[in-house]
Parts: sequence; C-alpha cells; structure tokens
Amino acid sequence: MEENAVIAQVVFSLSLDRDFDYLVPVELRGRVRVGSRVRVEFNTGERSGYVVAMKSHSDYWPLKPIVALESEKEQIPESLVWLADWMADYYCCPKEHAVRTLLPAVVRSGEMKHKQALFVSLTLKAANQGAEFDKMSDKRKELIQYLRREGSRPLTELVNLNLASTAIISKMCEEGWLSKELRVVERDPFLDDVVQPDEPKKLTKDQQKALDVINASQDAEDSSVILLHGVTASGKTEVYLQAISRCLERDKEAIVLVPEISLTPQTCERFRRRFGNMVSVLHSGLSDGERFDEWTRINEGRSRIAVGARSALFAPFRNLGLIVVDEEHENSYKQDESPRYNARDMAVVRGKHENATIVLGSATPSLESYYNCEQGRYKLVEMNERVDTKPLPSVELIDMGQEAAMAGKAQIFSNRLKELIFDRLQKAEQVILFLNRRGFATQMMCAKCGYVATCENCSVSYVYHKHAGMLSCHMCGAETPAPTVCPQCGDPEIRYSGFGTEKIETITQALFPKAKIARMDSDTMRTKDCYKKVLEEFRAGRVNILIGTQMIAKGLDFPNVTLVGVVQADIGLHVPDFRSGERVFQLITQVAGRAGRGDTPGKVVVQTYTPDHFALRTAVRQDFHAFYEEEAPSRKMLDFPPCSHMVMIHFRSQEEALAAAAAEAFTEELKPQLEEKTQVIGPMPAPLSKVQKYFRYQLLLRGGNIRRLSRLLRSMIVVRKQPKNVVIYADVDPRNLL
Ligand code: ADP
Ligand code: ZN
Repeated sequence: MEENAVIAQVVFSLSLDRDFDYLVPVELRGRVRVGSRVRVEFNTGERSGYVVAMKSHSDYWPLKPIVALESEKEQIPESLVWLADWMADYYCCPKEHAVRTLLPAVVRSGEMKHKQALFVSLTLKAANQGAEFDKMSDKRKELIQYLRREGSRPLTELVNLNLASTAIISKMCEEGWLSKELRVVERDPFLDDVVQPDEPKKLTKDQQKALDVINASQDAEDSSVILLHGVTASGKTEVYLQAISRCLERDKEAIVLVPEISLTPQTCERFRRRFGNMVSVLHSGLSDGERFDEWTRINEGRSRIAVGARSALFAPFRNLGLIVVDEEHENSYKQDESPRYNARDMAVVRGKHENATIVLGSATPSLESYYNCEQGRYKLVEMNERVDTKPLPSVELIDMGQEAAMAGKAQIFSNRLKELIFDRLQKAEQVILFLNRRGFATQMMCAKCGYVATCENCSVSYVYHKHAGMLSCHMCGAETPAPTVCPQCGDPEIRYSGFGTEKIETITQALFPKAKIARMDSDTMRTKDCYKKVLEEFRAGRVNILIGTQMIAKGLDFPNVTLVGVVQADIGLHVPDFRSGERVFQLITQVAGRAGRGDTPGKVVVQTYTPDHFALRTAVRQDFHAFYEEEAPSRKMLDFPPCSHMVMIHFRSQEEALAAAAAEAFTEELKPQLEEKTQVIGPMPAPLSKVQKYFRYQLLLRGGNIRRLSRLLRSMIVVRKQPKNVVIYADVDPRNLL
C-alpha cells in the first residue's frame, strides 16, 4: 500500500449497511472530509455518497479514486456523522438510513440550486461623481443616489420602483457607471408576514428559577438534561426564549423542537419576534426551495436558531449550546419508519456529545423523563402556576352510564354539557368540543345478517363519512361508496353505530340551530390554509363552537373559550397498550389547558363511561404527581418502561404463513442468545393483524441491557439477508404497540 494514503469511507443511499473505501486523489486532499458529498465509481456507473470516516489503511487494495467533490460547503458536520452511527447501532437500522436522515431530501438530491438574481451596484466612477456626473439627467442621478443610499439592489427592484428601465441600466453599465452581477438570493417563507419585534418579559419567580438552572448549565457547559415540568400557560416558552438569548450571548447556537402539530404560525412568530432573521424554521409546509435555503442558512452560519419538528434536531450547527424539546412527551417525536428514532432521546444524545444543555419541557412529562429525574439522571424544575395566576380551569367528570340509565339509552351529550353550551352561547362566549375520532359512524352493520363493512386490506372496519357518502379505512385510506343495501344479503336495513366528529357536528347543529359551528379534523383540513382560516374565524368570534380531533388539543390560545367538552374520554383508554392511561391523562390535561385563558374562568366537562379510572380522576385535578404515583409502581412491578427498555420485532408478509414461520424461526434462533433478564413475549399476531394487505406478526422483548440487545438484533436483522417475501425490522423503544 502507498505510504501516507488518504482513504475515505463512503456510504451510498442503498440498503447495504456497508461503507466502501476510496482513495482521495492528491488534488482533493484536505478538501474531502468527513461529511463531504463525493462522486465515485460504483459498479458500472457513478454515484454520489457521503464520507463517514477518513483513514490511512484499507484492507481492499488497490482502491478507486474519488472522481469529484460535489460541494465544498454542503457537508455534514462531523458530530452529526457520529450521531448517525450511534443511531444506526441503537435503533438497529442500516447506516445509510441514519446518514440519510441527517439531510433534507432536497439537499441530499444535490439538484436544488441557489436561487440567483441580477444585482446592480455603483462603480468607482459613479462613487467619485465629478463633472460628468453633474451633466447627467435628473432621472439618472436619482438612480445613482438611490444606490448610494441602499447599496447594491436587485435589478427587478429598480425596475419595479420605476427608477430605470432595463435598457437604461444596461446602457449605464456600458458607460461604466454601474455594474451587474449574479448573486445568490434566498426564498423567504415569511416574505408576506411582518413581525413586531418584542422584548424579553420580566420573569415570574418560578420562571427565573427555571432559567437560572438552565443558564447555570449553559455557563458550565455540563450538558445537563433539565426537565421543565410546567402547567399549561406557566410561561415555559418565555423561559426557552430567554435561555436562547443566553445561548446567543455565549456565541452558540440553539435548536428548538416542537411537535409538527404545534408548528403553528403563532409559535413560529414568537421566536421570530424575539430573534428576527436569526431564526430558521423547518416544517413540512415549506417548499423544497425554501427548505433548501433554510438548511443552507444554518449550514453557512447565517442563522443561529433552528425551530422545527423532529428532523430539525439534525440542523447542521457546529457550535451548539442549547437544545429545547417542547412537549417532550409527544409521540410524534418518534419516527415510524427507519430509522425509528425518538428525537427527544436523540436530543439528549446529541446534546451530551456536543456539550450542549438539553431542556425537555411539558405540562405532562412522559414517565420516562420523570423517572430519569427520580434516578438523578435529569434535573427537575417545576412551575406550578399560570403566569397570570389565573386558576386552572375546573374540570367535571360526567358519568355517561348514569346518563344512559336515566334516558333509557346511550347519549352523546349529557344534560349538563348541553346546559353549559347553551349558557355559553347566551353569553357570547366560545366553546370547544373535542372528540378523538373523525367520521360520522364507526361501524356499518346489516341489521339482518350481521355483515360488518370491513376494509379488504386491513383488519379494521370501515368508518362511515356521511357528507362524502363514503366508507373509509382509517388505516390505509381506502375508500368505497357507502352501499344502500347490505352487500351480503341485500337487505336495506343498514345500521350505523359509533360516532365521530362529523356526527357531533350534525347533532350540535341540530341542538343549537343558531350557533356558527366549525369542524377541524383531517377530513376538513386538507390544506394548510384551511387550518389558518378556521382558526382566524374562531379568533375573530365568527365561529361559536369549534369541534375537532387532537388537532385542536394543543397549543391554541383563545381567551374567549370558557368551555371545553370532551365528548368521549374513553376512546383510547381500552386499547391494548400499557401507555393508554398515560395518553388519556396527557390528552385531557392538554385539552383542559385550552379553557379559561382569558378573564373568565374556564370550565371543562369530561364525559366518560369509566369515571373511576385513575387516569381520568387525576387528569380532572390536573395532578401529574398523583397520576405518576399510581402509574409508576405498576410499571415497575411489570418491569415495563420506564423501568426497562422494550424492543418490538415486526414480521410482515402478504402471506400469513410466511410471516408466522419467519417469526417462529427468528424467535428460536434468538432465545438462546438472550440475557436471562430479557423477557420474550410472542411471537404472535399483532393487534392490528393486517394492514395494507400485509399480515403482521410481532415479538416483544423487554428488559436486560439494551445496547447488548440492539447489537444482537442488528446482527440478525440488518446485516444479513431476510427470508424471501418477509419484511423484518426492529422497533427500539416503540411508542406504538399495535
Ligand atoms: P406555556 O409555554 O407554559 O404554555 P407561555 O410561554 O405560552 O406558556 O405563556 C403563556 C402566556 O403568558 C403567553 O401569552 C406569554 O406571552 C405570557 N407570559 C409568559 N411569561 C410572562 C411573563 N413573565 N410576564 C408576562 N407575561 C408572560
Ligand atoms: Zn385499509
């Protein structure tokens, strides 16, 4: 082998879980680095790949040289390459899946170009003025004075302002007064919004205490993880904002993660009002061009705060000081495709690696994070009061079983809720009704033969959407016109049972004919603008009652809402998932936080058939500690998370027998290699046994050393070939067990 060889290890976007060695030719030495995108020969063609490591020795020799360096600037920071490696190991996925996640698709593709525009500048001659300048027409003088004042400006701007025509500008260039050049410009997603700058607020005592803990960690660079447990409206966001100020003063950069659903214009605006164009916002509504520009601004150090959903964690900062994860308990931080990472947990890993302080914020912390505080791994800071010291809204549980007994049949609205809605409408106050299920009826059944309309591809029944006249599968999205007679026996007596938001809307409108009602769920909110429009209508008071799914549960702040009704709190309580109680607790608490944000105290009515369930009882008091005290011991006893780690192995095939056989064989091979502490549950058919034509089997592993288990599973899943026509993958720390 050549002395002093410089070798780059390159990964491609292929599912190979392998890197390949290439020689760095002399002319590229020093320029090809970890994180560079390079062009290389691979098989018979050329491909782009990313350098994940540099070394001086290779077992393969001779090596092909790198053909070209694709971009000097668009590199992945080395610390992120490290993070991808960690992610691939922990979450049992191919390395290149992890590397791929570091970059937005539009950057990865290498096809997006910077947008360019012609800029006009003054030459030395124009700057010097002199006799020739005096002879110029007033119009030309005006142009030159404008440029003297404003500096170089885009040609289109000068033309639009009627300062000069393109022809005149060209002529003045020829005469040596002006020069034209192409420059990179940015697509600005906020072009049309004007934001009012704001000032830091004077903090409450609780807020100051929280900020002190965070800033002490920033100053010490001790990469602490701080759980900020603050009730809704306790002013967590203001604490984040001031912690970011400190981060910037220390010449460092900050990442703020929020769930996609709360990336509302309201949220983005709060950050931009404080920090102006130092903020980059990354969300799913951006065009490819905007995303490319935002990412580039971060990569080139022109913006220093990234606010975004899950993937904003991979913002290519090189001098990170602070990571904030708001609503840290949210399931949406977990990606449900490979790599199946949880951005909250990866935030801790990245923060620790880069000496940044990590702040996890929530009104309803996950059991994992709270447990980590108990164990001394995280620091706990609590804020128990609203900033305005308004009382938390009062919550009432209504026993729907009793209501049914009184009325002689099941009711959708209790008398109490109806009365309260009526009262609020009289007072011109606003109401939110919440139901975590969309559609009109959840089941279509033939009264004669018992036929139930079920999706052909999935093991779930169709949901009836009356307005559209369709049956729709909420698993795979399949739709079919709703039949008027039973497809099995031809009988016309079709019954619909169960209810969703669409039906609630119909019933509410019938009960309160004069009320203006709007519905917000993924059926009515197909575009981003719809969402904005309905919220504006509601804010302006043109809508009295807003009905919706979890879309409306979070982050909205409407002072005139004095009543929130949870129509059916039981949804979700009986799913086969050990976190179901935790989820219902979180949901009710969050929803309750929507009420009474203004001057009138809020009221929340929770309708349920299980009023004695402790998750509901504690949610009514919005008492997280009481919930934790009851939930944690049972998790401990069963050795469930947060006391242990879980891994779910999935086996999927279009042929049920293949999935079952693969699951059996896998389990047989795995069992003897497991630690004694690791429990094996299954294999068994998944609760959702078929989705989108695929039969699903699963194997649940719990307990023992997670890093060891991950390594073992990786060797059985990622590195080797899988049985034909079966998909096998691991979900580490799963959030979804169905
Ligand atoms: P959270 O994030 O905990 O839900 P927010 O940060 O949104 O709470 O605060 C709730 C409201 O109180 C917001 O309107 C915010 O502007 C205001 N607020 C926060 N901190 C202060 C403060 N120290 N003084 C005055 N108003 C504040
Ligand atoms: Zn389906």
